[in-house]
Parts: sequence; C-alpha cells; structure tokens
Amino acid sequence: MSVNQQTHTGPPYGQPQPGYQGFQQPAYGGQSLPGAPQSQYGAYNGPVPGYQQPVPPQGYFPSLGFPSKGSPVSLNSDTSLAPNFIGSLRAPPTSGAPPPASGASHPSGHVAYSQFEHGDVQNGIPASAAPMQRPPASQPFLPGSAPTPVSQISTFQQYGPPPGSVQQLRNHMAGMTIGSTAASAPPPAGLGYASVPPVSGSVSATGSGLYTPYSASQGPPLPSVSQALPVAQPPFPGQTIPTQRLPAQVPGFTPPPPSTGVGPSSYPPTTGAPRPPAMPGPPLPGQTVAGPPSSQPNHVSSPPPPSAMAGLHPGPPMSGLHGPPPPTHPPQPGYQMQQNGSFGQMRGPQPNYGGAYPGAPNYGSPPGPPPPPKRLDPDSIPSPIQVIEDDRNNRGSEPFVTGVRGQVPPLVTTNFLVKDQGNASPRYIRCTSYNIPCTSDMAKQSQVPLAAVIKPLATLPPEETLPYLVDHGESGPVRCNRCKAYMCPFMQFIEGGRRFQCCFCSCVTEVPPHYFQHLDHTGKRVDFYDRPELSLGSYEFLATVDYCKNNKFPSPPAFIFMIDVSYNAVKSGLVRLICEELKSLLDYLPREGNMEESAIRVGFVTYNKVLHFYNVKSSLAQPQMMVVSDVADMFVPLLDGFLVNVNESRTVIASLLDQIPEMFADTRETETVFAPVIQAGLEALKAAECAGKLFIFHTSLPIAEAPGKLKNRDDRKLINTDKEKTLFQPQTSFYNNLAKDCVAQGCCVDLFLFPNQYLDVATLGVVPYQTGGSIYKYAYFQLETDQYRFLNDLRRDVQKEVGFDAVMRVRTSTGIRATDFFGAFYMSNTTDVEMAGLDCDKTITVEFKHDDKLSEDSGALLQCALLYTSCAGQRRLRIHNLSLNCCTQLADLYRNCETDTLINYLAKYAYRGVLSSPVKTVRDALINQCAQILACYRKNCASPSSAGQLILPECMKLLPVYLNCVLKSDVLQPGPEVTTDDRAYIRHLVTSMDVAETNVFFYPRLLPLTKADVDSDSLPAAIRNSEERLSKGDIYLLENGLNIFVWVGVNVQQSLIQNLFGVSSFSQISNALSTLPVLENPFSKKVRSIVDMLQGQRSRYMKLIIVKQEDKLEMLFKHFLVEDKSLSGGASYVDFLCHMHKEIRQLLS
Ligand SMILES: [Zn+2]
Repeated sequence: MSVNQQTHTGPPYGQPQPGYQGFQQPAYGGQSLPGAPQSQYGAYNGPVPGYQQPVPPQGYFPSLGFPSKGSPVSLNSDTSLAPNFIGSLRAPPTSGAPPPASGASHPSGHVAYSQFEHGDVQNGIPASAAPMQRPPASQPFLPGSAPTPVSQISTFQQYGPPPGSVQQLRNHMAGMTIGSTAASAPPPAGLGYASVPPVSGSVSATGSGLYTPYSASQGPPLPSVSQALPVAQPPFPGQTIPTQRLPAQVPGFTPPPPSTGVGPSSYPPTTGAPRPPAMPGPPLPGQTVAGPPSSQPNHVSSPPPPSAMAGLHPGPPMSGLHGPPPPTHPPQPGYQMQQNGSFGQMRGPQPNYGGAYPGAPNYGSPPGPPPPPKRLDPDSIPSPIQVIEDDRNNRGSEPFVTGVRGQVPPLVTTNFLVKDQGNASPRYIRCTSYNIPCTSDMAKQSQVPLAAVIKPLATLPPEETLPYLVDHGESGPVRCNRCKAYMCPFMQFIEGGRRFQCCFCSCVTEVPPHYFQHLDHTGKRVDFYDRPELSLGSYEFLATVDYCKNNKFPSPPAFIFMIDVSYNAVKSGLVRLICEELKSLLDYLPREGNMEESAIRVGFVTYNKVLHFYNVKSSLAQPQMMVVSDVADMFVPLLDGFLVNVNESRTVIASLLDQIPEMFADTRETETVFAPVIQAGLEALKAAECAGKLFIFHTSLPIAEAPGKLKNRDDRKLINTDKEKTLFQPQTSFYNNLAKDCVAQGCCVDLFLFPNQYLDVATLGVVPYQTGGSIYKYAYFQLETDQYRFLNDLRRDVQKEVGFDAVMRVRTSTGIRATDFFGAFYMSNTTDVEMAGLDCDKTITVEFKHDDKLSEDSGALLQCALLYTSCAGQRRLRIHNLSLNCCTQLADLYRNCETDTLINYLAKYAYRGVLSSPVKTVRDALINQCAQILACYRKNCASPSSAGQLILPECMKLLPVYLNCVLKSDVLQPGPEVTTDDRAYIRHLVTSMDVAETNVFFYPRLLPLTKADVDSDSLPAAIRNSEERLSKGDIYLLENGLNIFVWVGVNVQQSLIQNLFGVSSFSQISNALSTLPVLENPFSKKVRSIVDMLQGQRSRYMKLIIVKQEDKLEMLFKHFLVEDKSLSGGASYVDFLCHMHKEIRQLLS
C-alpha cells in the first residue's frame, strides 16, 4: 500500500504520530516554506489498518483569551513621540489635549471579554462566561479522537428503508400524540403521530448499545393520556357573535385531540430502529394532561361560513371560548382543534384553556378560569414558547447522531450535542425539509421551498469534534472524474475496491493506486473508519497547488486598519478609542492551531478627504506617514514597511497608535472619502500578493470629491411607493465594480459605521456585502454608552475564525440542483459562490429545484465544498455532506420540515425581493406562498374535516406566527422611528444570519427576570411576546440578537429595584444606563449573569436598553412584542392567523 509517499511542497504538517503509518515525520513531506505555519494537525494520511497506539485527541488549542480590559489605559500619548519625526509628510499638528476622561474607562457592570466564548452559539442555556476560546477550524485526525469502528458499527445504520412499516417509521415528530388516527382514516404515510418519546432519548435501536431507552422520567409522564383527554369541546355557553373586529374573534380553536392508543409507533427512520410503540412520553404540544394543555393546539378551527371568515365567526366551540355555541353553529366536526390532521371529529368536554399562564407548567393543575368571551384565546393558538420548550425537553438530553439519512435535527433553540456519523452536523447545514418530494410537480404543489442554510465554518462547542484535516499529498483529494465531487461516505466502491461509483452523478472512477483498499464482505472498504472522508459528514482536505490562485501557494493574509480621522470621529473620542484598543488587540490576531504567533500581517491607514499611509517597518525608530491626496487614482505609496508582523514592529506600531489621536486632535476636516479607502486597501493587498481583510471605521456620508462620492438621497416619502426599492439599492454602480475587484483579490471588507445622520448604508454596504464582510452600525455613537459594545464587536471580529479567497460549490445528486443563493458573497457564474472572506458566523442559503425525478430508495445528497485559505495561509477544502430522504407522499414532506429554517429562507427571499419589487408585493407574495403551503397540507394530508377548520401541520404550526414577524419586520413594514439606514442595515444582517439568529431576531426571547431562580444556572422560562403577558410587578428581559431590553413594571417591589439598579424607587431608574450596575446581591448577580450568558450566545454584542413601563422608550420596546398589533400597522398574531385561515380557505374553495 502506498499511501502518503508523495513529497509535498507545502508547509510542515502535523506532529509525529507513533503508530500512524507513514506519518513518522514531523513535516508532511518536503521542505517547509518560510513562514509556513506550524500546525497541530496530525495529518490524516492514508489508509491505516487500524488505530494503533491511540493518541489522545488534541482538539482545541489553548484559549486565546483576550486580556482583561478592566483597567483604564492611559490615553496620554508620550509627548516624546511627537509627530515631528514624521517629516515632510506631516499630519495636522497635534493639540496635545488630554483624552476624554471617559476614553478608556469601562462602564461598571460590563462583562469580561470572555463572554465571547463560542461554545454555546447553539442556544439553549449557555455555559457561563469563560475566557475566549477560539477553536481551530479543523483539527488533527488522531486515532484517539476518531470514531471508533466499534461504536460506529453498532450505530451506523445502512441507508435505506427503515425496517418495519415504512409508513409508520417515517412519521417523525416528536411531540404529537394523536390517538384517533386509525379511527379517522388518516391519510397514508401515517398522519397519526404516535405519542413519541423524545426522539433522541428514546431510541433503543436494535444493535445499538449507545442509546438509553427513553425513560418516562425524562419528561412529565403521560400516563393514560388517551383516556384522560376529552374528545370534544364543551358547548359555548356565552359566546356571542362578534359584530366587530371580526378577525380578532375566535374561530373555533379547539384543543388538540387526545392520543388514544398511540397508534403505530411513528418514529423517524432516523435512528434506524423502531421505537417501542406506545411509549408514554412527555406531554405533547396540545395535549392535555389532567388539566389544561400546556401547549397550543395547532389546529385552529373556524366556522364554516367563508364569508364571515375575515372575522371569525362565532360558532363552533373553541377552546378558550366558553359558552354554548350559537344555535346556528352547533358543535360539529370540523370545529375541533386538531393535530396534524390526523384525527377526525371529536366531541365531548373540552378542558378549559383559561387563565393559566401559557407556558407555565400546568400539568395536573385544574383548569383556569375561562377567558373573556368574544376573543380568540391566545393561549389556544400555537405557542412558540411551548414548541421550543417541548423540543428542549424531548431532544436536548441525547446527542444528535448523524448516521441516518433524512433526520430532522432538534430545533436551534435546543441545546444538544452532535455526533458526526456520516452526515454534516446541523450546525453546518440545516434544511427546510429533510424529506423532499420525488417530483417537481409535488414540490410545486406543496410550495415548500427546498433550501439549505449552510454555515461552512461554524464554530462548534468544545465537546464536539472538529473536522479532521486529511492530507492526500501531492495527488490531492480523490474526486469523481465527471462531476468532480469529493470522496465522501456515499461513494460506492466496486470491483473489489478498484473503482468507485459517484453518488452524485453515477460516473465510475478508477481508484488511484495510492488510495486503493480492499473491501470487506459487505462491500465496505476495510479502512472505512480510518478515513474521515469515508465515514464522516464533515472533514477537510489539504489542497494542493492546483487549488491555488496562479498555481502558487498563498501567502498568509493581512489585516489593514483604516481609520476615519475626520472631525466627528476625533471629537467623539472614537479615534483614540480605536488606537488604544488596537495596541492590545493586535496580539490576538487569529492563529492557526498551536502556532506561537499569528501569521497575519497588519497595516494602518487613516483618512478624511485624503489618505495617510504609515510605514511601520521594524527597523524604523518612528513610524512614517505618507499622504496621498490624489484620491482619484489611488495607489499605495509604500510597499516595504506597510504590512508588517506585529511582533517585529511592535514598538513602531505602538508609537503610531499613540500618535494618531494626537496628530488629528485639532482637525477641522469634516468631509470624508470612502471608495478610495477600499481601493487603497485593495491595492496594498495586491502589491503584497495576499488576501486579507480591511477594517474600516467610518463616520459619514462620503461627500468629498472622489470616486464613489455620494449624495444624500434619503427620502422617507418613498416608503410604500413603487420607488421604495430604490432606498435599498446602491446609488451608484461604482461600488459593485469595486466589490468585484476586491473579490478577485480576496480582499474582504468589514465596515464599522458611526453615523450621526444618514450615510447611505445601502451603498456603503455593497463592498462588505459582496466580499463576505460584516457591517456594524453604532448610530449616534457616544463613548460612554457605546464603547463597550463597539469594542466587544471589534475584538470578536478581529479574532474570529475566517477563511479567505473562498469559493463554495454545492453539488447535488441527480434530480435536484442548486438554483439560487442568498448571503454575503459574489457570483461570477451560476454555480460558484465567491467570498473574499468567509467567517464562522456567515451563512449561505442555497435553494434547490428539481431537474429530474428523485427516488425514495436513493434519496438526495448534497455536498458543499468550500475552498479557502486559512489564517495561516494554508489552502484547504472543507467538505460537508448531507443525505436527505425523498418521498412520494406529501405528508412525509410536511412531517420532516423545519419551520425555523423555512422562515430563515423566506426572510432572505423577501429581503432580496425588496430590491426589485414594491414592498407590498413582496409581503403579499410571502403570505400567498405560506397560504399555499398550508392549503396543500390541508387538502392532501389532513384528514377530512370541515372547511372551517384551520389545520396546520405539526412541524409548521408556528409558520403563521413567525411569518407574521417577518412581515412586520423593519424592512418590510417600517415604523416611523426606523431610518432608511436601519432598514438597509437589517437587510444586510439578515441575509447572512443562521437559523438560530433569525429565530430570535424575528421572535425575540422574553424572560421574566423576577422569576429567575437566583440559586440556579438556568434561565427563567421564556414567555410569549405579548404585552398581556407582562405583569406590572415584574421585570423582564427581551433580546433579539441586536438589543437587550430590560423592562421594569411600575409596580415592581422597591427592594427589587434597589437590588438591580441601586436606586430606591422606580422613578429614579435611569434609562440612560447602558449596563446594569454591579451590585453585590443575588438578584443583581443573577440578572447580570443572564445578560452575560445571552451576550455570549450572540455574534454581536447587544445594546442594553432600560425601559420603564409607561415611559416614552416603551414604544420602542413594544415594537418587539411581536404577537401584538404593531404601531406600524403589523397585525397581531391572532389577527394574522385568522387572515391566513381566510387565505387558505380561498385557495381551497
Ligand atoms: Zn460524479
């Protein structure tokens, strides 16, 4: 066997690994290149017979914790370093004025930088703040950390139809128990959801010793649920026919059907083993367990007369409505709350849905008081809180193992671990559906978009295994001859292992001699478990020179800091703040593996109407400035000494950063240029022949005479007109062309904006957007209140994992193909997504369409290949594979959907739509598409029932509430306080968001702080986003990924106010606070730890806003209570649900 015998010209790789055949040498062959990175990657070289002498895994490199920034740094620059060294190209004279007192001090109550640890990006309850750790993008493949054949054999399931009844097994929804399935003639493919125990916790797969059988203790037991559940509703004694505001009235909302008999065990084929039938599980959404249901039914019934639909009729019994039904509408089938369309008519007493606080555990408690009549009971409509809670309870306890095709992962709001056994982790890829229609006609009929939200460089929690780096030497990765797909677990080896058939295009390719391996009796290569690319869903290949630009291995990337030094930037203290910060931050540039220092070089530019370049060569005693005032034709006035190694030029850089604030302290220049700044950075990278990132700190609309000069074209009068789209479009194509040049060079732009007025984010954002960069915006930046947020964002942005010069391609198996892409990137053709830079927070959403028929047997495959340059200049390929099921029954599609991902896709689709269509058109299209999705389900999957019923698929029961949030968002329906720049900014942000981010952005998390248990690490149970859920006596926290609001009710106990704010009364609470005071009492500590925890979960530092009830800021807060009617005209959840129902009925009639 000749593996790993090739010589290489790359940098040294990996450590000597005893026992690893062919891997005795420290370098992976050949000579090391100057500046080549040392890495911790143990190369994964070639087939090994087995793991000999396992070495403990060495996954994460030591924390690169950012230094504590707790103590103020003196901002007084050393006057001995006065700018006179600068020579002829002198900057404006320095004033020597002392820095603003607040310049470097930190507000009390701030949290340490360590909160940016990323292990917890996955929602759920995060670990407490810890020193920042930045795991490497990939990790060595070491025997000890590899999946062991033993465990894999026992758990890895062959793809294919699950054993047992396919239909039964295919049912995949944790959480719904519908017992009447059989009786009500469910549609094929198992609409009857058995009362399934948590998917992850309940699989006692045959042959697998890894799973702990579900135990009833993992959730509230549901004994005799079926018996206990009422089957029909009580009459509606007091109901009257609504005469006004019909939409707000209730159509019949009935409780979910009881689960009788837990029909066939409906397990997803995912775990590969049939589940025990009729296992009692936790209460399911909508189920009543000896008391009011703890969650919302997903079937909302409304009275039949369509004419009255816009307003809900009185009529049928509905949950929450009490009283006898109007004579004209006696209770009848079709008015019950249904689940999944899987049961028919139910009558009988219905539990009260009354007063109990939704989401509160109500198990066993007596029904609450009846709600007021004439109003649709919000507690009876599907609750996001309950769905999130149920998924957490059901799926948070066991790891999500990716060995089986088409498994729907736990929700993004559930904290779970992932074990890669052949498919990419949901942290890398999430799909709108994991079971896709076999034909294009079916797909069209359902209108469910088929899309994948891909985050190729996602950060993993420390407990999870990073992708292994595989080195095939000079021959590079093994690929299909025809479609060029990379070797992956789904390739079929044939002819004794001499050839393999491509799982994407079916082409047969010779196995290269060095890659040959024998097959075992099952046809599997005997080195299957030794090779990540054969057994794992995600891994990396070291790229050969063929994958490099100009057939040359890349140089390490560079970071260029470009600071606006115009009047506003200087006066606000921003320039001084940035310079002070950079002095320490530069020691924390991204490093690869165990490298001692970062390979990234740095450069500095300041600018207003002209640009100042700095020579910070290590041999200089002092930095030198060179001014370029001809901004029309930008060039870089110096090559040698502009981009330097931080350690080598440490003193010169420090000196420069001390002097910049002084040099411009007295500036009177208010005008700025912008495009020439980007051009300068681009030219510098070109000259250095490397990729890199520009960090631009900018304050104003660039009105100075220069290319890319802009004018103020903001015009709110355009809102709601056909010209509204122009507000989102760039005002000149100049930046599009510039972006294209940047992408070609691998020049990524991150933009930090500090506007005091309109600065045209839509135009300034073009280059960051198309280069894969980020935009941060701090409107009306004030040092005291905003510096901490800005500095945290900057630190994280500088340190985060990023790949450069990236190209991503998504290959698919025959029958579907990627047709559309959303995200921050550039495309020069129809298949390749190009990003000058791609960081660990960015996602690319890919939509698929059919181009042929798919088969249930073979399913569908995706392979996402990302070619990029690491922060040390290493060229790599990261591969993510995902296999999906295919179905001939629409019910299977609806059962395997993920609404959070669907919303992520729909929001991006709509946010792109506003560039070309009137906003109203976009909104209507969204509503229409969702109505079609739900109508198709109703028509084809739900059991026959009255047309008056609103029946929602279990997996999509939150689609209406979430869709309404998208429709009401600032981009699609701006309130008066939302600026044009805000809208462009949000549009940009959302486009790159992952599913967890869109989830909390559109439906914020609302936590009752006063209910928090100060003795536990847990968060208080979230509540629904509606004003009626707020109590005047409590304090709440609301977060959406960008802001954290702390809302204080007028009747909050004085002691709580004292403990949290350190003042003695409600009226004394200052809403100017940007942090909570640090007070030594349990409540203060608890609340601050919650805030820190939330900050640690988000990719941006959230702005903290204190809101007092009945204060003017409360309007802003209420904007985020998304279940309520909004001031800008957005519908309440209840109203919108009724509207959707009407739309669906129209489609069905
Ligand atoms: Zn192929």
